[in-house]
Amino acid sequence: MSEGQLGFEGMPRRLLQAAPSRLSTYQDCPRRYRLRYLDRPAPPKGPPWAHNSLGAAVHTALANWWKLPPTRRTVPAAGVLLDDAWLSDGFRNDEQCAAARSRARQMVERYVADLDPHDEPVGVERTVALKTDHAALFGRVDRIDDRGAEGVVVVDYKTGRHLLTVDDARTSLALAVYAAASERTLHRRCRRVELHHLPTGEVIVWDHSDDGLARHVRRADSIAAEIAELDQRFRSGVSHAEADAMYPTKVGQLCGWCDYNRSCPQGAAVARPRDPWAGLDLPVS
Ligand code: SF4
Repeated sequence: MSEGQLGFEGMPRRLLQAAPSRLSTYQDCPRRYRLRYLDRPAPPKGPPWAHNSLGAAVHTALANWWKLPPTRRTVPAAGVLLDDAWLSDGFRNDEQCAAARSRARQMVERYVADLDPHDEPVGVERTVALKTDHAALFGRVDRIDDRGAEGVVVVDYKTGRHLLTVDDARTSLALAVYAAASERTLHRRCRRVELHHLPTGEVIVWDHSDDGLARHVRRADSIAAEIAELDQRFRSGVSHAEADAMYPTKVGQLCGWCDYNRSCPQGAAVARPRDPWAGLDLPVS
């Protein structure tokens, strides 16, 4: 269905403007989606997470490293950029914050030591976009490499403690959308996606087939269609009970990590909010 076609109750349907994270939030828990994207006034979020602070600082440092002239893309420069980008939100205390900062600095220094400073990525934190029948999808890719005859490659930095597998790269809707959107935006073939896990230095690679990538895009479009219809109904005015039924809770382990745990009695009943520093793999002092 294209933009301007009639949707719910004859109302014109617009394309859902969405980053892949919006689609995955809905898939993880429709109630969380509603709390994050629709409810107004917006419900209060939980406190910031320390692991997000660490991840954001690492991403910023690496992006800024590529912005330096090649002769200044050194290992010590990466450490300085990490210090400049450091965020102290969410840590238990100064000692834990300092330990995390030191670990993050080691991560970026070790990572850039294996890079060729004379490479020039096609994109660093580059926004790419793709239209499907029901959605205008967009996203900011950590890095897009030019691998010559292989085409361009989506590189996603990961700083979490969980070890990654090829399945993480293969099944990631976000990575697939980034690949398809990179191809559309840059007019270069893009089938490969890579997860660069900074804590271990591992690089997880997946080469999508044409069919595999198309399947992911169709899936994204189908989720977007479902969301768009629900959202349109929600905005046209529904009762509180109807809204709850339209966006049901999906309780589980995720609830302890949910920013909206405090606004969700069902989730709070199964999992108390985790400590803001619980996502770090550092000892708590
Ligand atoms: S606490 Fe759990 S059920 Fe509630 S919104 Fe968050 S993820 Fe969904």
